[in-house]
Amino acid sequence: MSTSVPLLEGGTWRTSSADETVDVFNPSTGEVIAHVPVCGADETASVVAAAARALPEWSATPAVERARVMFRLHQLMEEQCEALAELVTREHGKTLPESRAEVQRGLEMVEFAAGVPSLLMGDTLPNIATDVDAETMRHPVGVCVGITPYNFPLMVPLWMFPVAIVCGNTFVLKPSEKVPLSAVRMGQLLEEAGLPAGVFNIVHGGRACVDGLLEHPLVAAVSFVGSTAVAKAVYEKGITRGKRVQAAGGAKNHLVIMPDADLDQSVKALSASAYGCAGQRCMAGSVAVAVGEIGDPLVKELCDYAGSLRVGPTDKNEDVDVGPLIRPEHLERVAGYLDIAAGEGADVALDGRRNTTDAGFLLGPCVVDQVQPQMRLAREEIFGPVLSVMRAPDLESALAIGRGCPYGNGASIFTRDGYAARQFKQHFNAGMIGINVGVPAPMAWFPFTGWNQSFFGDLHIQGTESVHFYTRQKMTLTRWFESADDSFQDPVWKNSKE
Ligand code: NAD
Repeated sequence: MSTSVPLLEGGTWRTSSADETVDVFNPSTGEVIAHVPVCGADETASVVAAAARALPEWSATPAVERARVMFRLHQLMEEQCEALAELVTREHGKTLPESRAEVQRGLEMVEFAAGVPSLLMGDTLPNIATDVDAETMRHPVGVCVGITPYNFPLMVPLWMFPVAIVCGNTFVLKPSEKVPLSAVRMGQLLEEAGLPAGVFNIVHGGRACVDGLLEHPLVAAVSFVGSTAVAKAVYEKGITRGKRVQAAGGAKNHLVIMPDADLDQSVKALSASAYGCAGQRCMAGSVAVAVGEIGDPLVKELCDYAGSLRVGPTDKNEDVDVGPLIRPEHLERVAGYLDIAAGEGADVALDGRRNTTDAGFLLGPCVVDQVQPQMRLAREEIFGPVLSVMRAPDLESALAIGRGCPYGNGASIFTRDGYAARQFKQHFNAGMIGINVGVPAPMAWFPFTGWNQSFFGDLHIQGTESVHFYTRQKMTLTRWFESADDSFQDPVWKNSKE
């Protein structure tokens, strides 16, 4: 039975007054499992106002007490790890092991946030001028907003609110309308963890709701993760209204395989990178760049290995390697790239289209060989289980392919040659680099450093940069005047004068 997804406003779960709703699917079965409201500007403003009301008390709560909520949240999440993973699989469609890994990455963000008080400490320099001391302090910025994509229903919200909240801010989450259920579960767990009402709030919707958040005068900071077109629009709209914005966008990630690479290991890493989560990851390998003579054996091994992966519905089924795509229209769009490839003269070496009447939105792994730089497969984010193969005569040509790409999220090299690895690390045009690692996604303690059209803003999500994003500094200069009858001599240095 499908249910209506509630809003969380000032500690109260309530049904939206919006007339319009969007269906939430189980992508493994095609069944509608919930309806999510499409909130307008008024309802969105009301949720922001609730977050603003909770701000004075929460920002005055000692930082260590704020952090303790994260310890309790961590415990609850660990106890309910399996149920959380099942929920992610149910609304997103990724395999259960992939959902468990997502919960784990999210838990790490909670661990990082629990340690944030030591990153909130300021700097001091006593006697910066005669009798004058200087110090900086980190203050919360105010009401923070998170707008998240469908591909990590649990982890991407956890990239944002734990750090924002421990920094003393209150938070409004606008989850993807395709996967709102994990976000709602996180709201319930935060309540159980003892977070005061109004510190964490949830609103649902699409563009009107996002515009309502961006235009609201009480919103101070916006964290966005999603496609490049929307990331850019959100960034531009937010900064023109004086808000801090960090907006992570889409990607086109390259995997460079040098002639000396271990073929077997590389094929497994490439497959995990390109077909994990059915290719719906911003760090998914999208283009394999085969350098020199490794091209032909690589394509053969890749087709054999990828062709053996088990494709199927993921809910109630552990024996699946590649699950469904999020929606039928996305499946159609991704599969359409195979026709585009053939039309542009590339070679569809492995076609994952399925001749079955499966209810789920399934597409098996695909390999497209002989992709050229001007083709759409080389330039556009596909976001599905399609790996394009380009050929390059040497590493310099592989680096040039990277320079021609407008995105800049991740890139990996597979090699046994330390110098080639170093050249790649130094010169590839992307912000996250893997050396013999297929998905170089940083863990919570490091920033998620996308470049170019993969990120708009200054301070990235995760790590110390996120603490800086969610705080503003205050600098204080202090001077106490000596009274006429004070004749002070520093007792520490007294003896050294004698
Ligand atoms: P999306 O851009 O369609 O949606 C992201 C969010 O923006 C959702 O909450 C959605 O409701 C909202 N939105 C959609 N259209 C909007 C509009 N016109 N105006 C205002 N808000 C709008 O992205 P998606 O399809 O949910 O997610 C997949 C994309 O996210 C891919 O491009 C992927 O690469 C990217 N992504 C990037 C990262 C990263 O760290 N760079 C991480 C995960 C996903």
